[in-house]
Amino acid sequence: MMSSSGGIGKEREEGPQSESSQRKVVRTACPLCGYHVFDVEIENNRVERVRPAPVPGNKGDGVCLKAVRALQWHYPEEVRGAIFPMIRQNKGGPWKRASWDEALDLVAKRLKETKETDGSQATAIMIGTGALMGGIIGMQTLGQFAEKYGCYIHTHGETCYVVRVIANIVTCGALLQPDLEPGIKNGSIWLWGSNPEASLPPMVKRIRLKQKNEGSKLVVIDPRRTVLAKKADLYLPVKPGTDLALILAMLNVIIKEELYDKEFVDKYTLGFDELKKHVAVYTPEHVEDIVNIPASDIRKAAEIYAKDQPAAIFAYIGIDGGPHAFQFHRAAVSLHALLGNIDVAGGMLLREKWTGWLASSAFKAQEGKPCAGQPYSIYTKFSNEGSPAYFLESVLRGDPCEYKNLLIWGYNTVRMHGDSNRVREALKKAEFIVQVDPQMNEVSDYADVFLPVRALLEKQELGSLWGSFDNDQLYLVEPCIKAPGEGLDDYEIVWRLSERFGFEHWKSFEEAANETLSKIDYTLDKMKAEGPWYWRETDKKWKTRTPAFRTSSGKIELYSKVIEEEGFNPLPTYFEAAETHVSSPNIARKYPLIATDFRSPNYLHSRLHDCPGLLKVEPEPLVERQGLRKISRKELSDYRWDGLVLAQAY
Ligand code: SF4
Repeated sequence: MMSSSGGIGKEREEGPQSESSQRKVVRTACPLCGYHVFDVEIENNRVERVRPAPVPGNKGDGVCLKAVRALQWHYPEEVRGAIFPMIRQNKGGPWKRASWDEALDLVAKRLKETKETDGSQATAIMIGTGALMGGIIGMQTLGQFAEKYGCYIHTHGETCYVVRVIANIVTCGALLQPDLEPGIKNGSIWLWGSNPEASLPPMVKRIRLKQKNEGSKLVVIDPRRTVLAKKADLYLPVKPGTDLALILAMLNVIIKEELYDKEFVDKYTLGFDELKKHVAVYTPEHVEDIVNIPASDIRKAAEIYAKDQPAAIFAYIGIDGGPHAFQFHRAAVSLHALLGNIDVAGGMLLREKWTGWLASSAFKAQEGKPCAGQPYSIYTKFSNEGSPAYFLESVLRGDPCEYKNLLIWGYNTVRMHGDSNRVREALKKAEFIVQVDPQMNEVSDYADVFLPVRALLEKQELGSLWGSFDNDQLYLVEPCIKAPGEGLDDYEIVWRLSERFGFEHWKSFEEAANETLSKIDYTLDKMKAEGPWYWRETDKKWKTRTPAFRTSSGKIELYSKVIEEEGFNPLPTYFEAAETHVSSPNIARKYPLIATDFRSPNYLHSRLHDCPGLLKVEPEPLVERQGLRKISRKELSDYRWDGLVLAQAY
């Protein structure tokens, strides 16, 4: 039930504010990468202690150092920059404090005028993790607003996660995730461009225990020799950006040596003969110079994968941000299909009932309206989003449409995109920028309006567990402490804005959560009673599935007609990326090093770099190098990152 009447617009009066001097314990989901559930001890509106909650989904994991220190620090007022709505008198002029009404009236007026003069597609909404943190109600509310206003949403998902999801759905009809359940046997565990030591530290213990107690083999494929790479049975230091060639060579070996599961392939796949013919050229000997790994090691990897089943492959951000992300993930599904390693315990789980879709379920493609990245039609077709990577280029070029207004929601575009100078140029070119964020940052230099949003433990939200892979989880993020100043929850800001357009909207968090949960036959009360969360084991039942896979053919589509119809290669094909020493030898002579970044266990994307507890552990940007040239501090001084590997060009 939605309403266009009032009912919102008041700061929350109940809850922790009234209890600020009391000691209390709140059970809530970790608002950082959102995988674990905590019991948070609070006294006088401060986090005193964070400890893992005794709930089944935690599976005995502890709390990582990043979460403990970040939550105890919790965005003190002095680092936020502004705790009230702020507006500039004129472009680039000084900030002035405003009331919510004043700031939102200004935003609504500008958006209405632009729609009249340039069309609604001249406004775009960019969503990062800084504010929403996977918040389902916030994301849906923004999606509803965008649909009614008539503009596109651009999340950061194109460079992580969403491309992987689309590749999986196109190929086998659902998302595949590795099963690392304690007590379930994994024949082999693969960390391919994935380093849980930094991204999900409690997982390291699980992997080490499986190696020790169950004899699971560990294979690490990463340009960087991580701690787990040193513990691996096989470590392949793949040349950055060539992973697709490597996986195609593994397919070549498995098919040529007939190591695959013929029965599964015959019964459940489509296009095996085409794939066989296609990968014949990718012999280990042909590929070894491309990937800089000896052919013998490539064969060894293929044999481990084929023989040490079931195999759980973690291939995440290191692949997702690379040049072949989509086709790599299609090739990975093909690899699993060859061994029947799909929907099996300890291998790859097929997540048909996965609830992650709820967050973006309100995103709608804007029929007939141009948006950035439309040449990459598969992305927009499956996600209903515009491309964030091409978005900033579109702002600069005015093609395929002129973007005048940007609503930047918890997204430090300057730090999160490559070539930050180019991003700054794009922000400078946009005529009107509204920034919604818990703290001011580099984007604020270009913003015209700043709207403070509640941070981490101040929010009330329904979270989708983006980091979850072995079961299906939604969690309730409960407000633990009171936000300073006038920050609001994301959806409250959107509802207040919606009222200025006469758009219908939910009236309360409870109404929004119950309507959302009804899609999975659940309620907010049940959620509070159970955890507070929704948690289900992923089904493992492929042998009884009819049809087996939710693709148009009912089979795993190794050869994809869907992709072919969109004008793309129906089989994963390796090509040399732009500006490598192979594709651009002249550039490579001048710039002989390859740079690739890595994640730090102490920070979250571009965030938490102000947290003293974490700065103590990692006070400066890290650079690792496997080359000859020394990097001067001066060369590094202008940048801020989690980590950077500089490797000598091959
Ligand atoms: S691993 Fe992620 S979800 Fe778990 S405690 Fe650390 S930051 Fe939170």
